[in-house]
Amino acid sequence: MTLAVGGAVTTLLGFVIVALAAYWVYRDAKTKGVSDPAGWGILTFLLFIIAFPLYLLWGRKRVTSKSQSVVTTTAKRFCVECGMELPADVRFCTGCGKEASQATERI
Ligand SMILES: [Zn+2]
Repeated sequence: MTLAVGGAVTTLLGFVIVALAAYWVYRDAKTKGVSDPAGWGILTFLLFIIAFPLYLLWGRKRVTSKSQSVVTTTAKRFCVECGMELPADVRFCTGCGKEASQATERI
C-alpha cells in the first residue's frame, strides 16, 4: 500500500466515522427530545472535533437532568429476625440465616 492510498483510506475512514457520528447525534437528539436535532447533526458533521464532545457534554446533560426526575422506587425487604436489609433474590437472610420468605416488605 502506497502512502497516497493509505492517506486516502484514512481520509475516507475519517469521513465515514464523522458521517456516522453526525447521524448518531441526529438520531440520539431526536429520540431524547433535544431541541434542533438536525442542527446538532449538521454541526457534528461540519465541526466534528468541537460539536461532538459539545453534544455529549452539554446537549445530553439537559436531557439527563430531566430524566433523573423519574425515580424508580424498588421495594426493600428486611429480615423479621434481625432487621437486616435483604437483596430481592436471596432465599435466606445474610445476617442471621432465617428464611427470607418471611421477611417484611417495605417501600
Ligand atoms: Zn436476619
